[in-house]
Amino acid sequence: VAMPQQESAVLERPQFKEKYDHFIGGKWVAPASGEYFENVSPIDGKPFTKAARGNKEDIDKALDAAHKAFKSWSKTSAATRSKLLLDIADIMEKNAEMLARAETVDNGKAIRETRAADIPLCIDHFRYFAGVIRADESTMSEHDEFTISINLQEPIGVVGQIIPWNFPLLMATWKMAPALAAGCCVVMKPAEQTPTSIMLLMELIQDILPEGVLNVVTGFGPEAGKPLASSPRVAKVAFTGETTTGRLIMQYASENLIPVTMELGGKSPNVFMPSIADADDEFFDKCVEGAVMFALNQGEVCTCPSRMLVHESIFDRLMERVIQRTKDIKVGHPLAEDTMMGAQASNDQFEKILSYMDIGKQEGAEVLCGGSVASLNSGLENGYYIQPTIFKGNNKMRVFQEEIFGPVSSVTTFKTQEEAIELANDTLYGLGAGLWTRDAHEIYQMPRAIQAGRVWVNCYHHYPAHAPFGGYKKSGFGRETHKMMLNHYRQTKNMLISY
Ligand code: NAD
Repeated sequence: VAMPQQESAVLERPQFKEKYDHFIGGKWVAPASGEYFENVSPIDGKPFTKAARGNKEDIDKALDAAHKAFKSWSKTSAATRSKLLLDIADIMEKNAEMLARAETVDNGKAIRETRAADIPLCIDHFRYFAGVIRADESTMSEHDEFTISINLQEPIGVVGQIIPWNFPLLMATWKMAPALAAGCCVVMKPAEQTPTSIMLLMELIQDILPEGVLNVVTGFGPEAGKPLASSPRVAKVAFTGETTTGRLIMQYASENLIPVTMELGGKSPNVFMPSIADADDEFFDKCVEGAVMFALNQGEVCTCPSRMLVHESIFDRLMERVIQRTKDIKVGHPLAEDTMMGAQASNDQFEKILSYMDIGKQEGAEVLCGGSVASLNSGLENGYYIQPTIFKGNNKMRVFQEEIFGPVSSVTTFKTQEEAIELANDTLYGLGAGLWTRDAHEIYQMPRAIQAGRVWVNCYHHYPAHAPFGGYKKSGFGRETHKMMLNHYRQTKNMLISY
């Protein structure tokens, strides 16, 4: 009798409203169109709430509110802004379990990941920027005996931020925190696949910030994203999403000659050097875990280690363990505590990943494990579940070159260090990379030769707020996280004062 009760408590969802309006000027504002769109949960393929369908009129309202707020927000002290960011972090921490559950229902990721990674990283991000903004002072230097030079860092203005669906809350906080810390006002558009968890966050923090400082308009890319990215009243656009969408956003922004930051796609290599064979069991286990990281967040991570490059001498030993470990990944109800991998975020994404399963097979790639849908029952039949999959093939295949954005990795071998670097760099992208080695020379030399904005050595998928994160090549430009992010939201004014 106790079991079903426990089960239903474990799978408990937060209380969602029937529908969510936009959050504009500190108020909940119905969409100008009067229309709402369904938000489907990837858990069971069923709608669980509705979001306002935003258009240009809603974006203009949000920009009005943000411009009005900017007059006073831009003049607040760093201490004031810091305090408010800390308040946001505190209220998120108090409601962490609710936010984790909302994120899991919205996006489909396993609750154990949302709880352990997404929400703590969101909270820490606000705390980090609350800290660095206070330590970041204007600089003064002597120009000559009678003249001093002062560099002031002024907020750039009202900024537009457009984010994807793979880490809805984390992507939102990565962008909000530095912009708010720098003194900017924000109009954000979340992804249409996951508009809800961000609105729950807005409900929590709605009374913390002055009206209009932070506005969120939900809706679709061409209807709500485009008017935001192309508005002449936006001083900067920060975008995270696909490389193809990034190109469009740059075109819109170029009309207004405004800066953009681009966090785009990836096809990250994970390189395993022969020296790992000499390591103790504990280190070898770590390598296996590092390889299996391709299934983290259902593989819907821009830095997903989707290309495993393994030295031929260790291929059999490593892959035997990696395949077994991959087969052991429990795919299941995202809210269940023992689920290791949840559902793909949307039906479109589900279909796209399955189409790559076919492409890989047609190209002649060998399926080492997985390769199809994960069939679940008990109400999950219509959810978007896929088996974590490993292909073996060569780096020219489409499954090695195109971003699948799912729990799919492809593996190939190399003979020499030069070949490993060549393969690692043989991609349009340059976001993340992993390197596993016990050789000190390789630890220092190889990351420098790999074209990627972040190279993890003997670890993978860490995203601390103090480490800069961003892409080389077609993975974008500009950095997220780290205090250098503040400079994407400010401009420098130099004052030369003679006396
Ligand atoms: P997407 O480009 O389809 O959508 C991202 C956002 O752009 C959404 O909010 C969408 O509504 C909006 N958009 C779409 N068309 C638009 C238009 N014409 N004008 C304005 N806005 C528009 O990307 P996605 O499918 O949501 O996300 C997955 C992609 O994001 C992957 O390529 C992934 O690698 C990338 N990503 C990158 C990072 C990073 O930090 N580099 C992080 C997470 C995700």
